[in-house]
Amino acid sequence: MDYKAPEQDAKFLLFDLFRVQDIWSEIPALSDFSEDLTQAIVAEGARLTSEVIAPTNQIGDEEGAHWEDGVVTTPAVFKNAYQEVAQGGWLGIAGNPDFGGQGMPKMLACLVEEMLWASNSSLYLYGTLTVGSTLAIDTHGTPEQKQTYLPKMYSGEWAGAMALTESHAGTDLGIMRSRAEPQANGSYSITGTKIFITGGEHDLVENIIHLVLAKLPDAPPGTKGISLFIVPKFLVDEDGSLGERNGWASGSIEHKMGIRASATNVINYDGATGYLLGEENQGLAAMFTMMNYERLSVGLQGLGSGDLAYQQAAAYAKDRLQGRASTGAQNPDGPADSLLVHPDVRRMLLSQRAYNEGGRAFALFVGLQLDLAKFNGDKDAGRLSELLTPIAKAYLSDKGFEGAVNAQQVFGGHGYIKEWGVEQIVRDARIAQIYEGTNGVQAADLLGRKVMRDNGATLRQFVDMMAQSEVAEEFQPALNEALDRLIRVTSSVIERSAEDPNLIGAVSTDYLELTGLTMFAWLWARMAAIAPDDEFGQAKKVTARFFFDRLLPKAEGLEAGLVADSASVMSMLDDSF
Ligand SMILES: Cc1cc2nc3c(=O)[nH]c(=O)nc-3n(C[C@H](O)[C@H](O)[C@H](O)COP(=O)(O)OP(=O)(O)OC[C@H]3O[C@@H](n4cnc5c(N)ncnc54)[C@H](O)[C@@H]3O)c2cc1C
Repeated sequence: MDYKAPEQDAKFLLFDLFRVQDIWSEIPALSDFSEDLTQAIVAEGARLTSEVIAPTNQIGDEEGAHWEDGVVTTPAVFKNAYQEVAQGGWLGIAGNPDFGGQGMPKMLACLVEEMLWASNSSLYLYGTLTVGSTLAIDTHGTPEQKQTYLPKMYSGEWAGAMALTESHAGTDLGIMRSRAEPQANGSYSITGTKIFITGGEHDLVENIIHLVLAKLPDAPPGTKGISLFIVPKFLVDEDGSLGERNGWASGSIEHKMGIRASATNVINYDGATGYLLGEENQGLAAMFTMMNYERLSVGLQGLGSGDLAYQQAAAYAKDRLQGRASTGAQNPDGPADSLLVHPDVRRMLLSQRAYNEGGRAFALFVGLQLDLAKFNGDKDAGRLSELLTPIAKAYLSDKGFEGAVNAQQVFGGHGYIKEWGVEQIVRDARIAQIYEGTNGVQAADLLGRKVMRDNGATLRQFVDMMAQSEVAEEFQPALNEALDRLIRVTSSVIERSAEDPNLIGAVSTDYLELTGLTMFAWLWARMAAIAPDDEFGQAKKVTARFFFDRLLPKAEGLEAGLVADSASVMSMLDDSF
């Protein structure tokens, strides 16, 4: 499957929309990232993903990951591709420069991650878990732990994995059973079985560093009694060399609908040596450092899948000849016109494009908030990024999957068979809505925690900011209406939830969709205002018009449904289901 990285859009978003040249030049740690350097990095990421990684995507899916006697083998083509990612330093691009990371802005990392996901999501899963693990170790580790693990993980010589889930404990981690017994030498002995551990075992690297959640013997019940441990595959000797094999093994891997070349392991910890990361009983909070990173990353997975799917569908629609335009033949010398003459095909392509390009702008905006929080200590930006992270995870992965299905529809029957690769994109994109906290859980997090914790204050502040932005005049009235609607719905839900304890859970998914649509409308109105007068800019303006005419009106229907109380979902008797 061909993949072309979105270099031109990246340039437009970074330098025209967000004007990062003005922001980064004021931040000492980022002032070296000139426009030229940034474009060179994006271009190299584009080359790597389009030329080296994308050709491994379908082969990897066909071959899949294999397990035999605890040994997990990835597809043969993955070895070189992963080496290229590792040796290019791509896993450490936003990492801590004191330990071999490259300290790049998150916005740039977001763009590169989207390309890595798009070109091969199974392959990049090994990468994203490594990047997320380094972030948790860098944030919560001791100086020795950082020195031991970070350089080797940034360089891709070692990989990371995140071990939370147990067969009876998925969303509800408070009921997990894995145990950690303190040892005389300060380490811990970890025992228990984790399931669904992505990249828990594989053959791409020499060591795999698990971050494992487990409970101490005297831990308080529930999520307040969970601690986080570093549990490497091979213990690391004092001089940094690999020592003995630790006491855990892969019991099997799952056979899955998609991401078939990503090894999803059952891991049995049998008195494995673990080292506390952060404080005892504070493990879930520490793990959230990694999970928040992964949530944005999984949103980027959705976006990457959506863009890969769009590219296949647009190319196919141009070539495929079926039927005639209702305004008369457009290709009179041929047997039929291309699919592009059919308004319904265009509707599907434009929907994909509107959500993809809106999603890319949204992800970069979240990346900007993370950069402002990290490099400028901007607390408002930090709070805003927390509010927006569940939207990025859920809305981008929902729209990515929807886009993949739309692309499949554009292909007709050829979208259902293996040959063209689109059915693989659909299978691969689906998981992004499920793991890393299901999208239902993201919606509950958005409304139940991030909005409710300050009675909607951060959201209102953000809406004020959106209302004051410069946007294309033609879209200003519809945008104002959308922003008013979001405030109206938020106030109404907050107020009604005091009397109706099930309301938040009953409406949160629709509420998340409403926030996503509204925020995308703001970004489209801004993009339309500054789009250049060339073909690229023309396409932006047309897509913005499509978004406002055809997609934003869905917000009206969402508002109508959000007026209902929880009885409509709660009144059915359990026995009647
Ligand atoms: C391919 C794959 C890779 C994975 N990789 C990893 C990994 O690397 N590390 C790891 O630790 N885990 C991993 N997971 C686990 C994944 O994160 C969980 O499957 C996911 O969080 C959901 O948990 P569950 O499957 O137990 O579903 P459940 O928690 O049983 O949820 C079932 C349904 O109930 C809903 N639900 C549950 N609780 C609530 C609630 N409180 N409010 C509203 N709705 C609720 C959910 O939204 C969902 O729709 C992976 C899973 C898969 C399939």
